[in-house]
Amino acid sequence: MLTTTKADNAYELALENFDAAADVLGLDNDTREMIKYPERVLTVTVPVRMDDGHIHRFEAYRVQHSSVRGPAKGGLRYHPQVTLDEVKALATWMTWKCAVVNIPFGGAKGGVTCDPKHMSQSELEHLTRRYTSAILPLIGPQQDIPAPDVYTNSQTMAWIMDTYSMTKGYAIPGVVTGKPISLGGSLGRNEATGRGVVYTILSACQHLHLPIKDATVVVQGFGNAGSIAAQLLHDAGAKVIAVSDSTGCVYNKDGLNIPELIHMKTLCGHVEGFPESEPIDAKQLLALDCDFLVPAALENTIHAENASAVRAKIVAEAANGPVTPAADRILESNGVFVIPDILCNAGGVTVSYFEWVQDEQHLFWEAQDVYNRLERVMKTAFRDVLKIHLEKKVPMRIAANMLGIGRVAEAVKLRGIYP
Ligand code: NAD
Repeated sequence: MLTTTKADNAYELALENFDAAADVLGLDNDTREMIKYPERVLTVTVPVRMDDGHIHRFEAYRVQHSSVRGPAKGGLRYHPQVTLDEVKALATWMTWKCAVVNIPFGGAKGGVTCDPKHMSQSELEHLTRRYTSAILPLIGPQQDIPAPDVYTNSQTMAWIMDTYSMTKGYAIPGVVTGKPISLGGSLGRNEATGRGVVYTILSACQHLHLPIKDATVVVQGFGNAGSIAAQLLHDAGAKVIAVSDSTGCVYNKDGLNIPELIHMKTLCGHVEGFPESEPIDAKQLLALDCDFLVPAALENTIHAENASAVRAKIVAEAANGPVTPAADRILESNGVFVIPDILCNAGGVTVSYFEWVQDEQHLFWEAQDVYNRLERVMKTAFRDVLKIHLEKKVPMRIAANMLGIGRVAEAVKLRGIYP
């Protein structure tokens, strides 16, 4: 599933998507050379004394793809299959994503190759603190601002904020986003990605004249992004008929009780065995007849071999990079409307931007304020991408990349080359 061979290497796919959009934009070679590749790549060794007393060495990365439009911004992933190429791909997508929603950030990403499910809280804390000290030269509220991603959360951000602040001698909440509210986090950040996904689905439904009421939904990956998107779609009157996590998939043709499923996932850590559901396998889940398919797990889950089985009307990419370029072509020819990742899941980084603004101003907003501003940003971005899609007759992904890459290209041309 993750980046193991050249054929499914996420970074190769990110570069392929860049070239496709840059070609339609008619971007000159000099500008491509300036914006296509990461500005900085840091690989660090992170030794951690484990609970049993032995020292384990973890490999970890922080990649800053771009700081052209502002501080580099991007999440931190803990996963056994994290590779440098995966982190480079995720950092690249962050650059175009921030530009699509027009927030003044560049792109970055961090990753630690580890298995957090088999680590204690204390081991995770030591890992996070040592990783933070290893990447200290790169991060800071004006330089590079980490946030949660797969298998990291607000507690991870609190440890990073504390470690960074201790080295400076005073509290610096703006060094990370996705923090606990009591440390300068923003109301609405935890559900921002899922909420943003739903705003883009609602916009797509309006465009395609599809009703949301009783629409059927399948969600792959029931973590932060996927479970909240499922909850909000359920609240909006849609029927979530299947969801999966890393342990299994559950299905009910009449709709799953999402609040109870979230409750069970929080208590037990898995969705498998949920009452009033039947188990199905991962392959069946992607091929279910539904209105919206929401991939919300990892990269490359819809690829050349399974794309033709997808029967959804809309694929809403809550995850980063879930559809390969080969699968994109198949979905396109089958008339599936794809809401690309750098648009669909941009709600997370948008509210991260709101959090950073609040931290910088020491002035905090009401939740409704956050939701209203998020809705405005997401709907404007959707409209801008749709306009390019319709006017230039290009797929939504290319349209989104054209918007993001075009904005970064304009900024780099204005700044020129240093020295
Ligand atoms: P998370 O750790 O909260 O949840 C990940 C979920 O995916 C877990 O439920 C896990 O069990 C499940 N999963 C893992 N492997 C799976 C598999 N093979 N099949 C099905 N499910 C599987 O992570 P998250 O923050 O929700 O991130 C999910 C995706 O959304 C990632 O691609 C991430 O980059 C993207 N994303 C997250 C945010 C954010 O704010 N959290 C923002 C933008 C994009």
